[in-house]
Amino acid sequence: MNRVKTRTITALVLVAAMLAGLLFYVFTYLQNGAEWASFQANRNVYTNGLVLTGSVVDRNGTVLTSARDGSRWYHADDEIRKATLHVVGDRSGNIGTSVLNRYSSQLIGYDPINGVYSLSDRGGTVQLSIDAEVSRVALEALNGASGTIAVYNYKTGEILCMVSSPTFDPDHEPDLSSDTAGYEGVYLNRAVSSTFTPGSIFKLVTAAAAIENIEGLFDMRFDCPGSIEVDGKTINCHSTHGSLSLGNALAVSCNCAFAEIAMMLGSDTLAQYAKVYGLTESFSMDSIAAAAGNYDLHEDDSWELAWSGIGQSTDLVNPLAFLRLMGAYANEGVAVTPRFVLSVTGASGIRTTITPQTSERLVNAKTANAMRELMAYNVTANYGTANYPGLDLCAKSGTAEVGGDAQPHAWFAGFLRNEDAPLAFVVLIENGGSGSKVAGAAANRVLQAAVAAVRGS
Ligand SMILES: [Zn+2]
Repeated sequence: MNRVKTRTITALVLVAAMLAGLLFYVFTYLQNGAEWASFQANRNVYTNGLVLTGSVVDRNGTVLTSARDGSRWYHADDEIRKATLHVVGDRSGNIGTSVLNRYSSQLIGYDPINGVYSLSDRGGTVQLSIDAEVSRVALEALNGASGTIAVYNYKTGEILCMVSSPTFDPDHEPDLSSDTAGYEGVYLNRAVSSTFTPGSIFKLVTAAAAIENIEGLFDMRFDCPGSIEVDGKTINCHSTHGSLSLGNALAVSCNCAFAEIAMMLGSDTLAQYAKVYGLTESFSMDSIAAAAGNYDLHEDDSWELAWSGIGQSTDLVNPLAFLRLMGAYANEGVAVTPRFVLSVTGASGIRTTITPQTSERLVNAKTANAMRELMAYNVTANYGTANYPGLDLCAKSGTAEVGGDAQPHAWFAGFLRNEDAPLAFVVLIENGGSGSKVAGAAANRVLQAAVAAVRGS
């Protein structure tokens, strides 16, 4: 009797151990299966380290790249290939923030029941919020210059275009090992991974800080004799503006007025606003982190402090972080986080939304409202509504000095108040010259295409 009991217990223990092992296996398989299948040594789905299954489509379902007959196919139009390269990715996987690099397991189309479909080339489909045609127009608007143009819907966070230049055609990849002229930083998506001197677009931060910290600001007058002396050194303005209200100082982008405002605020306050407004810290967009900008404290140096309020000195901003701030000004102070991956459809046909919409209050609602009014006035008083037909535009230009003999960077950033086209944008043309003229004209071209795209969808 005792022997039977011992044997029964032993058998039960063995069964329990087997079940536990099986459960452990199933659990780790479900947890890590996608990773195992997308492991780079899995030759079924990779060639030269790059995923060879799956498709990337734009917001309208236009196929930007797909796997065909064992190789990667790109869109037939070379301008669309170049304009979407930094988002989609190149054949060699050199563009680190691209979908081909960051969404490889989704492109493989792995699912825990069926595994990998590589042999049939089916794979998964990653749908972007990017619009191929708007991207094409944006690259054209950059007109061969280095820079970036990004447009997003500030209500949904969907990025319509995020074009970066220089770029290249993935079907005719240049030999960058021998000839790099004109291709500086070509593997960087400048919207995501770069920071630049903001110049006068930073006056939008200084103005907002002033609204909340300087009493009687809207009744004040600022005097511009063409230049002012700070600590024995000169702050130059680009004109002699005379006596100005805050609204006119922003509209004509007066350096003397904003130097004075920056000194009234102090560097602690300006640093705090740059931080709270998301300009000096990185933020995450889908699986990608945007580059953090810079604002240094200038406690003992009023001249540097004055220039920092004008967006010069050591100030740096990331284009997407600035775009997000423009979205917050437009959207009652709440920034909807930009995103560009809408959904993923696995090989088995199951569609999942990949990035849920998230938002964060960056700006006090009253301040955002005041900024909207000021930025609308910039357009009516200075940039000219006739240059932006059909657009209820709020904007600020920037002409950022970059030192030496180089032409300044041209910026134009802002948003539309059109209810059926809630779009924010940022245009940066490196060494492009005048912000309002060069970058403003580029912004109009892209916005016209983007408005048509969102109204048509
Ligand atoms: Zn001035």
